[in-house]
Amino acid sequence: MSRTPSFQVLVIGGGINGAGVARDLAMRGVRVALVEKGELGGGTTWASSGMIHGGLRYLQNDPEVTYHSCLDSGAIQRIAPHLIFRIPFLMPVFREDPIGPELVEVGLEMYDRYQPLKNGRPHTRLTREQALRLEPALSPRIDCAFTLDEWGVDAARLVMLNALDAAERGAEVHTHHEVCELIREGGTGRVRGARVRDRLSGEIRDLEAELTLNCTGPWASQLAALAGVELRLRPAKGIHLVFERRVSDAAIYARGIDGRDMFMFPHEQNSMAGTTDDDFYGDLDRMEVTEDEIRYVLQAMERSIPGIRRHRILHSIAAVRPTLYDFGSYEDDLSRDYAVIDHGPRDGVPGFWSLAGGKLAAYRLMAEDACDRLCTALGIEEPCRTATSPLPGGDEAPDIGALTRRFRLDWPAALRVGFRHGSRSGAVLAERPEPRTLCACEPVTDAELAHVARYEGVRRLTDCTLRVRLGLGACQGAGCAGAAGEVLAEALGWDAKRTAAEVAEFAAERWRAVAPALSGAQLAAMEVHRAVHRGARPWSAPEPGTVSRP
Ligand SMILES: Cc1cc2nc3c(=O)[nH]c(=O)nc-3n(C[C@H](O)[C@H](O)[C@H](O)COP(=O)(O)OP(=O)(O)OC[C@H]3O[C@@H](n4cnc5c(N)ncnc54)[C@H](O)[C@@H]3O)c2cc1C
Repeated sequence: MSRTPSFQVLVIGGGINGAGVARDLAMRGVRVALVEKGELGGGTTWASSGMIHGGLRYLQNDPEVTYHSCLDSGAIQRIAPHLIFRIPFLMPVFREDPIGPELVEVGLEMYDRYQPLKNGRPHTRLTREQALRLEPALSPRIDCAFTLDEWGVDAARLVMLNALDAAERGAEVHTHHEVCELIREGGTGRVRGARVRDRLSGEIRDLEAELTLNCTGPWASQLAALAGVELRLRPAKGIHLVFERRVSDAAIYARGIDGRDMFMFPHEQNSMAGTTDDDFYGDLDRMEVTEDEIRYVLQAMERSIPGIRRHRILHSIAAVRPTLYDFGSYEDDLSRDYAVIDHGPRDGVPGFWSLAGGKLAAYRLMAEDACDRLCTALGIEEPCRTATSPLPGGDEAPDIGALTRRFRLDWPAALRVGFRHGSRSGAVLAERPEPRTLCACEPVTDAELAHVARYEGVRRLTDCTLRVRLGLGACQGAGCAGAAGEVLAEALGWDAKRTAAEVAEFAAERWRAVAPALSGAQLAAMEVHRAVHRGARPWSAPEPGTVSRP
């Protein structure tokens, strides 16, 4: 006789899809566990462009994807109003472009029909002079330009808010836990959960569940192989270059040498340029940004923004899209659709499911679809409520002025907390009687760090890159990693050796993101900066990669 598993659903993979599913199931009263082998959102999701857009370019081949993304963008804006920001786009048209302004405008008129779904404004057509007045960074060679409206989100925080809400409704969430084996029932071969390894402590444990959902994004084929199932994806790598502060007020379209559309867009404190889209055959856990990719992106940006090379690149990000398999299409033309797969009828592996493909912008709808089907399989009839129930902090707008007065914070720091924590900002800042910012360039406060360490399951200092954007400003952690390590040490009870190792690992991780993106004088300057930082600080002593076991 088999035992009743502790969980009804085990979700593997804490990207936006896994976290979205965990929240949806927890809201329906399902006993759910979520396991993530690294930090929540640390796979593809955090390295995305962070846009909850419809995807103008999918309109031609994949209008359903555009429709669903716009629809879900509207829902995400409702449930997390504090975490989104408008991104006005400028699309310059050059004389030599293969598609002239009239045809561009036809496409934008079609996109306008979807804009109300995501609270977007219709496009406008600007003369060359109007566009240059609005955005002096633009090339004077443009013929004219169009505006269009999109929205951005802090993708890593959106994952966290979904996981946090799931946890507050009873879900178990385990970060740094890797599934190394699936538990199979003798005889039927049914999947009954997974064996997971805590990557920090080395501890192994079994999480038994009636249904197991593979939400591992680009790793989905590898995870499916553990069940002896073939799940084919067409993984495509995309990189971004991150520039210090705002390169432009608006986001700007750029065109690659191969005709691909790319963008330079403001994102939180910085600006991002990208992205590429190339078939990827390498190691998903060791992704590197190559010099070719950087030159390709810069070349594209330079055509629209001639002064781009004068701006400082801070670091680069790379990730792989978990695109559904297709043979014979160019990467850019691949569908961004998704699939919910029950491997019982398809592959003879009952109890095992996968959710693959899709877009950040439609994560909630994808999760709803997957959860409807999982609940049917479990005999549960609760409806989905994720489109209307606010995510943590999304129920009420924070009073930023009151926060500045109560906690003696300056506006940028208070605004930043309000953006990330919404109506919970007061409780976050109350972690310290007088919160102080740890960094001048990305004003993370000690109160927010202490809060996420105590209440949001932070286990490593490196988790804080995604959790609070630690070290993502101009100093890349040099100015704040040590102080942040001390805050975490106090909250999590680390000794001096562990704290030093955490800080060293944090610095090493930042360097891995910084070094490939730089060359020449910028690289030399950063090497000096790093050497000074390492030499001058007592916590730089231990070698990275040697975090002591707790
Ligand atoms: C460059 C780029 C830009 C993009 N821009 C946008 C955009 O602007 N808007 C948009 O809508 N979409 C965008 N996308 C697409 C979007 O980012 C993805 O569709 C989405 O993030 C995928 O989420 P996911 O949860 O499926 O995967 P992931 O975020 O990769 O999550 C999967 C998780 O599974 C974990 N995992 C893997 N194996 C195991 C295991 N054995 N045990 C435990 N955990 C495991 C991984 O660590 C990972 O965190 C972009 C994608 C890329 C690459």
